[in-house]
Amino acid sequence: MNGPSELRPAGTTGVDVARCMGRNSDAKTSGNLPTGWRKRHQSFVLRRRFIAAAVFSCVLFVPSRSHSQPTPNQEEERVALELSALGKQGDTIARARGQVLDILQHGNACTVWFQESDPDPAEVFRSLHFELEMGGPSYVYGMRDHEGGLLFKHPWAASSTQYGGSHSTILLNANGPFFNRTSVVMQLDPTGRLARPDGIRLLTISSYKGNTPEAQITILLHELGHIIGRLPEDHDSWDGQSSRNTSDVLRHCKTETRPAARNSPSSIRVRNSAD
Ligand SMILES: [Zn+2]
Repeated sequence: MNGPSELRPAGTTGVDVARCMGRNSDAKTSGNLPTGWRKRHQSFVLRRRFIAAAVFSCVLFVPSRSHSQPTPNQEEERVALELSALGKQGDTIARARGQVLDILQHGNACTVWFQESDPDPAEVFRSLHFELEMGGPSYVYGMRDHEGGLLFKHPWAASSTQYGGSHSTILLNANGPFFNRTSVVMQLDPTGRLARPDGIRLLTISSYKGNTPEAQITILLHELGHIIGRLPEDHDSWDGQSSRNTSDVLRHCKTETRPAARNSPSSIRVRNSAD
């Protein structure tokens, strides 16, 4: 899996030219045809011009597309620019993203686990976009189960597209555990409605407290798991699938998460030393 077709190697250029021509001529014929389109000669000349234009634009377009696949450095610059627009929260994402890349760029058990779904999980992760959901849920919801025990559902931390692949987006909840350590609890009545506030609770990702590097790395690895299909789909529900997925991530990546969380990521170290 290497995502969208524009990432195909240069060896398939011929196929791309043919497709590109097809698209261009389709676009022309379904578009603005001159009303006096009757004379065969005119039609022939124009069609030749269209085909020539299509071939020319493809010849220009396809090789530059193959060559314009961003290098890791260009990808870093693009992400740095995107994240700087998100202010302080963008800085937090940049640090956690660098720490995840430090994990995935080495041949450890965590990387090997992700490679069961994609040969180069670091490349996919490097290509991802990040967005903030400012109006996301912030409450922890509490409810009694049938045996009288208390269940809690924390606000979602992040979301992504299952099998979204390279260049897809991780959406982070600005009010969730990626950025926050605590949250107000809302108790639901047994019917699951009529919430009332009931104190404050620590937000956690597995055993990690919210707004810690360990939690942030785990959240990003979890989303990468969806993006390359290493984890099954889950939803913001009470069924516990999301927690089971996080446990699965940590079963394979916990050993790498702790040291990565303590280190300043190498991408940021490089940028700082270049300043
Ligand atoms: Zn999930």
